[in-house]
Amino acid sequence: MSTATTGSVSLAVRDVHLAFGAHRVLRGADLDVARGATACVIGPSGSGKSTLLRTINRLIEPDRGDVLLDGRSVLADDPDALRQRIGMVFQQFNLFPHLTVLRNITLALRRLKKLPEEEAVRLAREQLDLVGLAGRADSRPAQLSGGQQQRVAIARALALRPEVMLFDEATSALDPELVKGVLAVMADLASAGMTMVVVTHEMGFAREVADTVAFMDRGVVLEAGEPAAVFEDPRHDRLRRFLSQVL
Ligand code: ADP
Ligand code: MG
Repeated sequence: MSTATTGSVSLAVRDVHLAFGAHRVLRGADLDVARGATACVIGPSGSGKSTLLRTINRLIEPDRGDVLLDGRSVLADDPDALRQRIGMVFQQFNLFPHLTVLRNITLALRRLKKLPEEEAVRLAREQLDLVGLAGRADSRPAQLSGGQQQRVAIARALALRPEVMLFDEATSALDPELVKGVLAVMADLASAGMTMVVVTHEMGFAREVADTVAFMDRGVVLEAGEPAAVFEDPRHDRLRRFLSQVL
């Protein structure tokens, strides 16, 4: 991907706490992602990975703690402005079924960025090209494979020129043969210098692409480090047990 990625930022999650009623889902989570780096977040189901991502772009407000982009708190930003700076891709692609691929992308550009039609179309086509779907602009989502739909969702997020990208199990809903194409787009984006946080069960991707692997357990990042250290020489028993189940 010779890319249209714009300047990325560093990201820091600092001591974030969040409870749903009496259920303390985040209990002091910390994460550091250098500018242009990729952090993969791994960990058991229910450990708070999705909730952590959602506090980063303020889909949920933490009870305590902070999220910093280049050292500046996102809690001071207007949430709508913030969601243009931080793109997010979900397990379910959330495309509008009645709109063409092109319209799915231009809609956000027109509404959020207030771009004129012509400019929105130009940007949308550029992003579609980058995810290898230049020929599918006029298709409807249902005419595409799950992998192609997810690449459209990625293109839609990238069209807004985010400084950070968050991926929440972006390949978990895909048939196995479609996973590779999506991971390849994500790997290209990482090497193009996007700052990314990737929640994933794809340990091969984490090992090859991540600068940092963070293991979440019961609402905290229990252990984080370079992939080789986390996978080959885990310090915590809980991480060792998790790895023995997934590797
Ligand atoms: P993960 O992504 O690691 O599987 P989640 O962040 O989705 O974990 O969830 C962590 C815990 O928080 C789970 O026990 C889940 O049931 C709970 N949880 C998540 N979202 C909500 C919510 N909106 N209301 C109540 N509980 C929630
Ligand atoms: Mg989750």
